[in-house]
Amino acid sequence: MLYESTRGLSAKVSSAVAIKTGMAPDGGLFVPERTAPVPPERLGSMAGHSYRDRAAVILQEYLSDYAAEEIKECVESAYNGERFDSPEIAPVHKLDASLFILELWHGPTCAFKDLALQILPRLLTRAAAKTGEDSTVVILTATSGDTGKAALEGFKNVRGTEIIVFYPEDGVSEIQKLQMVTQEGDNVAVAAVKGNFDDVQAGVKEIFADEEFSRELLKLNCKLSSANSINWGRLAPQIVYYFSAYLDLSARGEIKPGEKVNFVVPTGNFGNILAAFYAYEMGLPVNRLICAANSNNVLADFIRTGIYNRGRQFKKTISPSMDILVSSNLERLLYHLCSRNGAKIREWMAGLNNTGMYRVDEQTYGLINTLFWSDFADDGETLETIRTFFRRSGYVADTHTAVGLNVYEKYALATGDPTKTVVASTASPFKFNESVAKAILGENTVKGKTELELLKVLSAASGMEIPPALRDLDQKPVLHRKVTDKNSMKDAVRSFLTGKFK
Ligand SMILES: *Cc1c(COP(=O)(O)O)cnc(C)c1O
Repeated sequence: MLYESTRGLSAKVSSAVAIKTGMAPDGGLFVPERTAPVPPERLGSMAGHSYRDRAAVILQEYLSDYAAEEIKECVESAYNGERFDSPEIAPVHKLDASLFILELWHGPTCAFKDLALQILPRLLTRAAAKTGEDSTVVILTATSGDTGKAALEGFKNVRGTEIIVFYPEDGVSEIQKLQMVTQEGDNVAVAAVKGNFDDVQAGVKEIFADEEFSRELLKLNCKLSSANSINWGRLAPQIVYYFSAYLDLSARGEIKPGEKVNFVVPTGNFGNILAAFYAYEMGLPVNRLICAANSNNVLADFIRTGIYNRGRQFKKTISPSMDILVSSNLERLLYHLCSRNGAKIREWMAGLNNTGMYRVDEQTYGLINTLFWSDFADDGETLETIRTFFRRSGYVADTHTAVGLNVYEKYALATGDPTKTVVASTASPFKFNESVAKAILGENTVKGKTELELLKVLSAASGMEIPPALRDLDQKPVLHRKVTDKNSMKDAVRSFLTGKFK
């Protein structure tokens, strides 16, 4: 399997090169050159497989330049009982006869990004070896909270790599900040930036685009790379859990062989739901993919109208990992649906750059509209949904998952569709416990308490155990105190790397 660029102007590359470089040289994103069908017999034969074995089968389809043994090693060291607190890795919880929750937060940082970022470093170091790379790979990451910690946990102490994470000083939750500043590992650096997430992301992009700085780093034998969800090595592992959820439902007799299901995905950068699209393309029986947005509802408007318009106020919400106006991975979906027409993609992306908007052609819009459905939930609806589901079924959903549940209810009401539905749950409720505690226990219980105190409050109210990764956060030493100006991020990278390699 080779990879081509969505902008149509770069040569095809192997999966190892796609994973090592992250982005295509023409500014596009790497996508597989063809679909990788999994026929029904093959799907059936995976029913009794463990999560690891299912992952090996799916990943081998896409990473054909990796040996079976290599994939097996990667999968086994990423998805095991030391790193995940559920033996099923991504367990499916039944809410009622037709509604299920796919819990993607049993990994070391309690958010779904662990499913990809536990295995990406392993795929990346092997990619470096395969392509004769002898430089140190420096992962540079801007984070609004979840990606940074998941990347730190994935890359810590991985030989041949260094990881540097920048986060907005006042733009992450108390727990997210504590998770990052207490990060251990010989190859990690974490710095707060005086600014908001857009400043941090702009700063990182500028560093990537600075060719002179790249040459300077090369003298230290270092090359920059990204752990962002534009990297194919993050998307491919996410396809696995859609297959796995389907196989679990089938094994439990909840669905008949071949029966279609819906997936609801709380969406930000469009990476998670795009993986569901790839699963559908491979032959997983899917009826509808439901894209759940928060008040930053660019995607909901796009899926309804075919017009992408980022020209609106950015809103800070209680589901911060979905606060995004430009969803990078949508470009991949458009490429697949417009018959792989790189010229069209270049035109639409130029429109987005120059005018803040574009409209896709009728045919592409028709395809989107048939497979996808979308709506959004504001903060009030999100809190109400957490409360309702807790009262109704005792299930405690985090704010992002609650956006998914709310949009599913809107979908069911609007369409009457009785298809069995799986909602992707993207974070542990403990990770966003202030909002969750407020929703189920009321404002007064929350008032004046720190997020760490609220962990215990939420645990008592829900009967759920506090995840080990969050439990001892206040006892861990703070190892990273650096605060940098938004214009000095490059200096921070330089001083960290020269300190190490000079
Ligand atoms: C990253 C994230 C999302 C959004 O996922 P995308 O792949 O960017 O669409 C949703 N929920 C949580 C908790 C996240 O961390």
